[in-house]
Amino acid sequence: MKQNEKYKIYLEEDEIPTQWYNVRADMKIKPAPLVNPATGKPATLEDLTPVFCEELAKQELDNDTRYFDIPEEIQKFYRMYRPAPLVRAYFLEEALGTPAHIYYKFEGNNTSGSHKLNSAVAQVYYAKKQGLKGTTTETGAGQWGTAVSMASAFFHMDAKVYMVKVSYEQKPFRREVMRTYGATVTPSPSMTTEIGKAILAEHPGTTGSLGCAISEAVEVAVKTPGYRYILGSVLNQVLLHQSIIGLEAKKAFDKIGVKPDIIIGCAGGGSNLGGLMSPFMGEKLRGEADYRFIAVEPASCPSLTRGVYAYDFADTGRICPLAKMYTLGSDFIPSPNHAGGLRYHGMSPIVSELYDEGLMEARAVEQTKVFEAAEMFARTEGILPAPESSHAIRVAIDEALKCKETGEAKNILFGLTGTGYFDLVAYQKFHDGEMSDYIPTDEDLKKSIAKLPKI
Ligand SMILES: *Cc1c(COP(=O)(O)O)cnc(C)c1O
Repeated sequence: MKQNEKYKIYLEEDEIPTQWYNVRADMKIKPAPLVNPATGKPATLEDLTPVFCEELAKQELDNDTRYFDIPEEIQKFYRMYRPAPLVRAYFLEEALGTPAHIYYKFEGNNTSGSHKLNSAVAQVYYAKKQGLKGTTTETGAGQWGTAVSMASAFFHMDAKVYMVKVSYEQKPFRREVMRTYGATVTPSPSMTTEIGKAILAEHPGTTGSLGCAISEAVEVAVKTPGYRYILGSVLNQVLLHQSIIGLEAKKAFDKIGVKPDIIIGCAGGGSNLGGLMSPFMGEKLRGEADYRFIAVEPASCPSLTRGVYAYDFADTGRICPLAKMYTLGSDFIPSPNHAGGLRYHGMSPIVSELYDEGLMEARAVEQTKVFEAAEMFARTEGILPAPESSHAIRVAIDEALKCKETGEAKNILFGLTGTGYFDLVAYQKFHDGEMSDYIPTDEDLKKSIAKLPKI
């Protein structure tokens, strides 16, 4: 780093965007609509409002409005932890000996430890505005549940969180953070719902999955007056809220007169990547600029690189609307030795459509390689990254190493979605040499893909 070069590119507080950007408005082919499994027809507002808050259901269905005003109350909340810095990873560049310039957008500077708070605050706010008592939701690793708990405490709303059992057991401290903010946390599958009971009867001893926790949370929302269900990824509305990441990043780049060449994000349900890339993708779709986008997923849960693009259930209980997405089938449960998060069976319909049209790339990486990258990043840049984020770090490093071979000084941007303080069991496995890579066989995938709904 030269004396006059900036390590962090900060925006001023009054430069935080006041509108979200809806990339669907610029897509020539729109993401396929959600489908009501009962009718086989595109889901209408009336279909969605028993499950989702009305304002959020409208956002979900709106493919045309380019910008949405961010309500004042949400803007205020954003100011508690935003703007998030864009950081030039000088020390990582130096360690790699690459001519590439690596930047990361750091979303881990809040107690949830991830970007999830950007959408949680929006969803809980709209529930309150509708006069509801509370929300129900699922959480896998726990970041989303924590984000919902934080937002619920702020807006004096109740939160019922169904936490995937394996995480509930492996991450008791995450549970306590949620309870500190006033949420009720139930390990899933549980005996508190019909679907939970059915799943437990069929798979006794199961450690749960996101798809299963979603089914439980939806069931409770639909059955409890004054409650709606909220989801932390995959949905169009979530990508809309997460566009704040990309809009801030773009503003910061504009400030220093730099244009990223490659934009990389880890992809679980696709929300952080979708949010980070949205304004850049908008420029690409409108023919104003070109960028390379890379989605990075775990080799053990490879929905984009090995899944099929088809209508599927969003949840194991098959009660949610159907979404057209790259999917491994809603029955797919990643191997229990997979420690790195990003374990959802499907992918955001927006990301899926963009990928299908060849507007972006996808790469699957093995978890030991991911943790090697995480460790290198921690040792050079100081931040202990979340395993999920480290998928993006892995590919950013790989791309920077390619630049080393070719001598190109490309600008690489990746999303550093969060911190890994609650993932130390996974880090421990890595350090003790007990982490293995599991790649599902074609046979494994065929089994769950064969159960896709026929529509
Ligand atoms: C949830 C989460 C992800 C993955 O979710 P997306 O919806 O794909 O963004 C990535 N990183 C962190 C830290 C998360 O909490």
